[in-house]
Amino acid sequence: MALGESSEALLRALMRELSVRLPVPCGHHEGASIAEPPRVPGRDQLDADKLLQQVEGVPRADDALLVCLCAEDIGNRIFSYFFGRARLDGSAVLVSLARLDPRFYGLPPEEAILVDRAIKEIRHEMGHSAGLQHCLDPDCLMHFSPDVEALDLRGAEYCADCGSVVSRLFAPAL
Ligand SMILES: [Zn+2]
Ligand SMILES: [Zn+2]
Repeated sequence: MALGESSEALLRALMRELSVRLPVPCGHHEGASIAEPPRVPGRDQLDADKLLQQVEGVPRADDALLVCLCAEDIGNRIFSYFFGRARLDGSAVLVSLARLDPRFYGLPPEEAILVDRAIKEIRHEMGHSAGLQHCLDPDCLMHFSPDVEALDLRGAEYCADCGSVVSRLFAPAL
């Protein structure tokens, strides 16, 4: 599901890339929305934890993991921002596109960079929802990235250990 203003073309590109990389079918949860997303008091941001809780409560037909792509910046009272948020073994993933967009840093728009970062971040948060903590391997998708430079440097795949946990959960039949 998408929250806020994101172009159709961008969402389509993300769906296409995700479908290629995920071992399970991936579809757009049309119509799912949150009327008044919770905000962090005093900041121009959505409250990542409260919003994640609401996204987890969005009804869906099956037990599919719900990925919410949010156009606005997200944070909470303690952390000034997150790229994404997910609970260990949770049923939803929240990713904000705001700080993944080169325009946030005063750079020209470049959709390929935004898509690449968003896919990495979605799969990182999916790893948390599969029960994974951060990984010490700097090339692994589950390595912690505090900023976009680190996100760009981090590998685009899980290490063998993290990958086996994710594929066990998301593709039990494989
Ligand atoms: Zn993480
Ligand atoms: Zn790993």
